[in-house]
Amino acid sequence: MPPIQEPKKGRAFTRRLMHWHHRFNTRSLPWQRSREPYTIWLSEIILQQTRVAQGLPYYEKFIAIYPDIQSLAAAPDDAVLKLWEGLGYYTRCRNLLATARFLVAESSGIFPQTYEGLLRLKGVGAYTAAAIASFAYGLPHAVVDGNVFRVLARCFGIETPIDCSDGKNLFQALANQLIDQKDPGGFNQALMDLGATVCTPSTPDCVHCPLAEICEARSSGWIERLPQRRPKNPPSIRYFNYFLLRRGDTIWLRQRQGKDIWQGLYEPLLIETMQVQELWELQDLPEFSQLNKKKAGWNYLGKSRQRLSHQIIFAQCYCLFWPENRVPAEGGIWVPVARLREYAFPRTLTWFFNKLTTFK
Ligand code: SF4
Repeated sequence: MPPIQEPKKGRAFTRRLMHWHHRFNTRSLPWQRSREPYTIWLSEIILQQTRVAQGLPYYEKFIAIYPDIQSLAAAPDDAVLKLWEGLGYYTRCRNLLATARFLVAESSGIFPQTYEGLLRLKGVGAYTAAAIASFAYGLPHAVVDGNVFRVLARCFGIETPIDCSDGKNLFQALANQLIDQKDPGGFNQALMDLGATVCTPSTPDCVHCPLAEICEARSSGWIERLPQRRPKNPPSIRYFNYFLLRRGDTIWLRQRQGKDIWQGLYEPLLIETMQVQELWELQDLPEFSQLNKKKAGWNYLGKSRQRLSHQIIFAQCYCLFWPENRVPAEGGIWVPVARLREYAFPRTLTWFFNKLTTFK
């Protein structure tokens, strides 16, 4: 379906946006000054589902330690996961490493120079492929992120939800139709920046917006209603009971495996339950049989709540001195407390560790 019924409005949109970009857009982020595929790719992967203010320090750390794709590809998994710690969505980090190693092995670290070639890379979707294609190679592929959805939905009065495939296709087609063929990278940057600095979610600055005269949401009073989203499914709730086992100056850790959250990160012994359980209830569970059931020596470190995109994790943590020579469970290692900082942990656990003054 051609999204623009009025080509004249489309031309006016692009002209006004690009004029604003050249005259008034003062936003400047480190990766915007680059045409290097590596820095663009790195910044886009870091910024997926992450606010710029949160992602910027991570980008700067990565660029300082891994200034090119060769240094990233050669880095150990644990070192890169550690650098990523706190950013969440760890699949991004694993894909980042897999793609760096693939490109170094297959093409001496050179990125594909077409949109379709970029799309074949692990962890690179339509958004990231369009960003690299337009910013690095000047190809006319529109980038559609949350800021772009908002500006387009409001300016064109589109009520189709942005989080369904129909909506995504419609907004992508519209942005591709609007893109400035002479300066695709500049157009993408301008649209994202306008959404980030002028057409903001709750307090859009319509008075200084270059699109004000052609904006449907403004003329019809729909600004707060757009963009639309589908009603959300409630998140699943999970209950994690951690047992921090200490033996001398070491603690027992195991790397998370499988397809679950936090894959590749480290954690102490975990017993997951269907609901909140007190220690005396946990002690009746079969999984608890390998632990010392005597209450003496147990320290309760507290509880925490971490919200992920589709889950809420309620965690509680106990600390136990482990005098025996037994192995608490398969697949773990005893790590010196002094070296804890070399391992990557979910945010919930960092919070517990920080409560142990000896770990600071
Ligand atoms: S006029 Fe207001 S609502 Fe419309 S695009 Fe500009 S800032 Fe957004």
